[in-house]
Amino acid sequence: MTIRAGLVGLGKIARDQHLPAIGKIDGIELVAVASRNARGDGVNNYPDLDAMLAGESDLDAVILCQPPQVRYAAARQAILAGKHVFLEKPPGATVTEVEALVALAQANNVTLYASWHSRYAAAVAQAKAWIAERTIRSIDIQWREDVRHWHPGQPWIWEPGGFGVFDPGINALSILTEIVPEAVMLLSAELEVPENKQAPIGASLKMATASGAAVEAVFDWRQTGPQTWDIAVETDQGSLLLSEGGNTLRLDGDVQLKAPDEEYPAMYRRFVGLVAERRIDVDLAPLRIVADAFLCGRHCPTALFED
Ligand code: NAP
Repeated sequence: MTIRAGLVGLGKIARDQHLPAIGKIDGIELVAVASRNARGDGVNNYPDLDAMLAGESDLDAVILCQPPQVRYAAARQAILAGKHVFLEKPPGATVTEVEALVALAQANNVTLYASWHSRYAAAVAQAKAWIAERTIRSIDIQWREDVRHWHPGQPWIWEPGGFGVFDPGINALSILTEIVPEAVMLLSAELEVPENKQAPIGASLKMATASGAAVEAVFDWRQTGPQTWDIAVETDQGSLLLSEGGNTLRLDGDVQLKAPDEEYPAMYRRFVGLVAERRIDVDLAPLRIVADAFLCGRHCPTALFED
């Protein structure tokens, strides 16, 4: 069976990643797009999800690529219409709303997939296997990028529920919670919020693994020039560095693996498999750490920032 999918929110990630990835993968076909402002090529176009659901009676799945603030309502509507749902990351604006979607998907016997694209970076599985045979001493995360380059014209990202620098930072947390074989807990956080914004531009997190290894993370959106997406792990038997967002692996300084980004095709293979078995894949661990940082973090006003 080929999944007949409709996509909602034809913005940057839909165009950069979802459309090309769907085109590469067997078992799923894009038949419709719901967009307030844009049109997809070679598909049926609708102004919103309501119209798409009404116009495409044999749609199997809905892919939600809007900002997190509006994702719950759309996901609920799609599930109640009997559709399988693919959620872009972060899966929602709150932990509770995503839990509610899990219960709804179970009740309606449809697949719900909370995608975490960074977990599909080339070196993450190998890093996880290497760490599983060692004892973690400490972890240091540096996630520094230029918001003007990566998020131009996205006012929602600075609004409540938009996550600010945690929008990329949650990608690091998704890798962290995948490669560490036990819970990771927030201890404290500092959130730098520009005086003219509602969400942080920088954040420093102190965390610990359940058995007590220190984990520190710095997320910063003010980095120009080379960008940094690194996770360094010290263990009782050597050190590991994941860089390029998880696509390069070094062990004790030597490059073991360096591969191009194929995260989205891998996620769509996963989604096709989940739909075949009507399974749910929702891991809230990265979102919980972000929620805890907002709950416990010290808010530090910082300089005005113009996009
Ligand atoms: P974007 O370029 O702003 O696109 C989001 C699209 O959602 C908009 O173009 C709009 O599409 C639709 N939309 C519906 N309701 C909206 C609302 N109230 N406000 C704004 N847009 C609304 O954002 P994006 O970068 O694609 O990010 C979307 C999601 O993908 C976010 O959760 C983000 O974390 C995730 N993501 C982004 C990246 C990246 O590199 N940008 C990478 C991975 C994941 P229509 O005009 O078609 O209605």
